Amino acid sequence: MNIQKILAIAVFWVISFSSIAQNQQEIQQVVEQAYREFKGIQEGKNADYIKELAKVDSSIFGIVMVDTDGNIYSAGDHFSQVSIQSVSKAFVLSLVLNQSGPAVIKENVGANATGFPFNSIIAMEINRESGINSMVNAGAIATTSLVNGETANDKWEAIVSKLSEFAGRTLEVDEPVYISEAGDNQRNVAQAHLLKAYNKIYFDADQSVDIYTRQCALSVHARDLATMAATLASGGINPITNKRVVSAEAVSYTLPVMATAGLYENSGKWLYQTGLPGKSGVGGALIAVVPGKFGIAVVSPPLDEAGNSVKGQLAINYIVEKLKLNPYLVASNP
Ligand code: GLU
Repeated sequence: MNIQKILAIAVFWVISFSSIAQNQQEIQQVVEQAYREFKGIQEGKNADYIKELAKVDSSIFGIVMVDTDGNIYSAGDHFSQVSIQSVSKAFVLSLVLNQSGPAVIKENVGANATGFPFNSIIAMEINRESGINSMVNAGAIATTSLVNGETANDKWEAIVSKLSEFAGRTLEVDEPVYISEAGDNQRNVAQAHLLKAYNKIYFDADQSVDIYTRQCALSVHARDLATMAATLASGGINPITNKRVVSAEAVSYTLPVMATAGLYENSGKWLYQTGLPGKSGVGGALIAVVPGKFGIAVVSPPLDEAGNSVKGQLAINYIVEKLKLNPYLVASNP
């Protein structure tokens, strides 16, 4: 190789590395801007139908992005913990897809949006034949009942260890949240028994609700959630631990269900604005997945009427717009 060639390669690498560094700096700046822009927003209110959630500090606000190389960008309270609640639904779905393949979900749960709130019984009635989806309570309880395992404990162990692999650390149940919801979740118990009447639950109804309630009470922070979302963005490999957590196929069937129903009855509006699969939880967590690029997570407990974090939606919308992350945004050549 002559000297010119060596110099040309060296210049190329210097330029590429500095543009990556510049890019990373820009991402961090946008995350910080989003934090500053929405920190003062007072709208929304903590969920209170689970009494323990009403006690969570409403001022918690953390934003984290993790890219598929494992770089982390963050602002605010990124280590403040909340219960994962319905965000767990996306990861338990991917666990079942990973264990049993896509046909099991299509045939036994369904993958249609309901257009109704997360705990709607009317949605179950209307969609009795066509099926619902794993992002609303009834479908999520059915999905949890499909996790492999002879006993409730086997199923629970499979869930907690898989969700921990997604997060890259051992997750633990917030016991007061679990006890509070378990004592007060007659509606979920009713839905599980209705599923049983329809032959759409695949394990003991009461035990399935109990496992589901525990999975919802797992304690997470924005860094965990962004890592979990980034694992989906990376086709099932956790970009921080570099461990394969679920198959690429499992991810490819999880993301469309999130896109269809991840923000309950506001899922269409969310997709219209961001173009991204997302999932919210009534604990105040919200994640979005930019396939092949990023996991984004926000934790902020005050929710809108549909049960989605107000600041979460604002911050993710802002980031998606500033960094042009909407996958439907195709810049055509002039
Ligand atoms: N554990 C909650 C419930 O079943 C989850 C709801 C949610 O986050 O949307 O009501």
